[in-house]
Amino acid sequence: MKKTAQKKQPAVHYTIVPKDLAGHLFNVTVTVPAPAPDGQVFALPAWIPGSYMIREFARNIVRIRAESNGASIHLTKLDKHSWRADPVAAPLTLHYEVYAWDLSVRAAHLDQTHGFFNGTSVFLRVLGQEEGAHEVDIQRPGDPAASTWRVATAMKEAGAKRYGFGTYAAANYDELIDHPVEMGDFALSTFKAHGIAHDIVVTGRVPNLDMARLQADLKAICEAQISLFEPETHRAPIDRYVFMTMAVGDGYGGLEHRASTALICSRADLPTTAMTQSGEPAEGYLKFLGLCSHEYFHTWNVKRIKPAVFAPYDLQVEGYTPLLWLFEGFTSYYDDLMLVRAGIIGEPTYFKLLGKTVGSVLRGSGRLKQSVADSSFDAWSKYYRQDENSPNAIISYYSKGSLIALAFDLTIRAKTNGARTLDDVMRALWQRYGRDFYPSVGRGVTETEVEALFDEVSGLKLRTLFDKYIRGTEDLPLAKLFAPFGVKLVDERKNSKPSLDAGIGRDPLGARLTQVHEGGAAHQAGLSALDIVIAIDGLRVNGNPSNVDTLLSRYRVGDKVTVHAFRRDELMAFDVTLQGDRVPGISLSQAVAGKKSTALARPSAS
Ligand SMILES: [Zn+2]
Repeated sequence: MKKTAQKKQPAVHYTIVPKDLAGHLFNVTVTVPAPAPDGQVFALPAWIPGSYMIREFARNIVRIRAESNGASIHLTKLDKHSWRADPVAAPLTLHYEVYAWDLSVRAAHLDQTHGFFNGTSVFLRVLGQEEGAHEVDIQRPGDPAASTWRVATAMKEAGAKRYGFGTYAAANYDELIDHPVEMGDFALSTFKAHGIAHDIVVTGRVPNLDMARLQADLKAICEAQISLFEPETHRAPIDRYVFMTMAVGDGYGGLEHRASTALICSRADLPTTAMTQSGEPAEGYLKFLGLCSHEYFHTWNVKRIKPAVFAPYDLQVEGYTPLLWLFEGFTSYYDDLMLVRAGIIGEPTYFKLLGKTVGSVLRGSGRLKQSVADSSFDAWSKYYRQDENSPNAIISYYSKGSLIALAFDLTIRAKTNGARTLDDVMRALWQRYGRDFYPSVGRGVTETEVEALFDEVSGLKLRTLFDKYIRGTEDLPLAKLFAPFGVKLVDERKNSKPSLDAGIGRDPLGARLTQVHEGGAAHQAGLSALDIVIAIDGLRVNGNPSNVDTLLSRYRVGDKVTVHAFRRDELMAFDVTLQGDRVPGISLSQAVAGKKSTALARPSAS
């Protein structure tokens, strides 16, 4: 060992340049000043935190070579995402090309209109030097189309000016890959929430974007969340924050990071100055604000309070945790609730959103087979890899997880007479497992610790709830839990509507069954998902999915019809006994007017 190994190592240095906009190629280099003496190993992550699926980002590395002091160094491929360079005694540089044509929040994208990347897609990890300083020189593309481009990222500038190309720095590799970067001619606006600067960055053509409204609404949401976790100090765990948004014709998604979020949304969901925007947000805009609220809540819940297995992350293999109901489900509960507390929507709209979630959870029989703990654990192979059978086989830890949060909140509020709420539990999680363990790898929290903390903070014995609804598959008794608050929850579905009880999609030949619900009319008659229904009682089914409903509307529940369908290229006939519509129509209403009506919207006293 050389004595210099004791000293602070010079930073691992990257350069990234969007080299071929039309060919979607980033050129990347990584220079290691002091490579491992027995041959430096490099690896690209197989997954990105927040999106629990093996994506094998290294498949997009097109060319790779190594050099040291001007001489070419041999690279040995070790597995699908790792390389080892032959030993060298001088600084070692890798040059590689990354293909970036994935328009999602999870990877990298580059063309003449903009560039976007997550570090997990472009920055090779230098094994053994993850804890040291990392810096990256983000270079402007030579293409004249990019002469006016700016850079948006929450990474700290180290030479670059804010929004400029140049050098940025991270304390370690984990931080480097947790600051996605957007470059282009984006719209930009900054507001302060409890004194902290928040940027809104919008890429894509959005005529008459109402940035003022967006600013006002996001500010209210961010302040409500900061106040939830730090009611006394109003201290946010960030120095600044970036909402990085890609607006497209049709899209929806978000990914959380420690000081930013990458979002994709439909252009039509963003507010416009061409219309009066008074009153509550329209449906699409509300969906977008809900997404922003969700990702922002993750700043605390999963980026800092995290499952023990993510402290630290192992990005080469799956990280199994039974706790995603807490990190995604509870975040889903608070995302909409925060819109109420921020004054953006009132209780009637909130109840409508809640009713939809309850309905979506009750829809599939998978809820009776898989617990949210198991759904969390198997997210990698099931929730993230859904197929036509998913409604019959799995439960979403997002939607049922959010109802578990609601059930805990209602239980704690009712049994402590409002003295305690779920907010107190979230704050205790934050104080004990989040706030004081960052920005190191974090401490992480185990299932046992979570369960003990719920009891301790609430002063109740909540084990039964964990057994029945988290480790078990029972439906949540929400109507009963809402009763003490004067809120009535009813299922208003009209069973008189005849139905096949199947998901229906478009097909040039007729109606494609996308899903067949277990025990429903289609299932009992022998129809299968992916069958293409072409006729009902001899009448042609056209390509419009609603045409099936139109044809069935002439029948009663219990009637028999003959359904002709193609399975592969074989025509088959099925005798179907029509059933009543089994889609739940949940509605919530304030049956008894009273002070308790806004209980959920009211933060607890502490
Ligand atoms: Zn989430």
